Amino acid sequence: NANQQLILDLIRDVPDWPKPGVVFKDITPLLADPRGFAAAVDELVALAPGPIDIVVGMEARGFIFAAPVALKLGAGFVPVRKPGKLPGKVHEQSFALEYGHETLTIHTDALWPGARVMVIDDVLATGGTVGATAALIKGQGAELVHVAVLMELGFLEGRGRLVELGAGTLSAVV
Ligand code: IMP
Repeated sequence: NANQQLILDLIRDVPDWPKPGVVFKDITPLLADPRGFAAAVDELVALAPGPIDIVVGMEARGFIFAAPVALKLGAGFVPVRKPGKLPGKVHEQSFALEYGHETLTIHTDALWPGARVMVIDDVLATGGTVGATAALIKGQGAELVHVAVLMELGFLEGRGRLVELGAGTLSAVV
């Protein structure tokens, strides 16, 4: 549709960043364009499968989309952060990333059993980030109802990895 084309036109390829051989998808031109940013948020909102209690977003680019999507869905927003950033008691989950290793954390009291949770991120690559986030959500007994990303890098086969991890259904805007 027209939104998808606009979004694709506003995401810039940066070759050999952050290291040689990687083509980085830079969303900053999209964020700087009011129509593009709004289109991205609207398309992510449209991927919600029914009522959502909490939208979870991951540091740092996930926050940019997850917060406005939460507001539009009438849901709360819960951040998943790198270690040492959340002030309360946290659960931790480590995983292998495209460019190394990473650990993600969530407040132990952020979710509740049966909460209907949607995960929003900007880019799905290997699926490590979403997989770890899914584990943190399920670890609190919440229901991960859907994962929506703005862009899926299909050649990295993150979707297959998420199926293996039992991360639930996933859809991408582009
Ligand atoms: P994954 O864990 O390998 O799926 O990587 C996804 C995470 O890394 C997301 O949180 C993205 O923000 C970030 N990421 C990986 N590749 C890109 C890219 O090309 N553009 C923007 N972010 C990326």
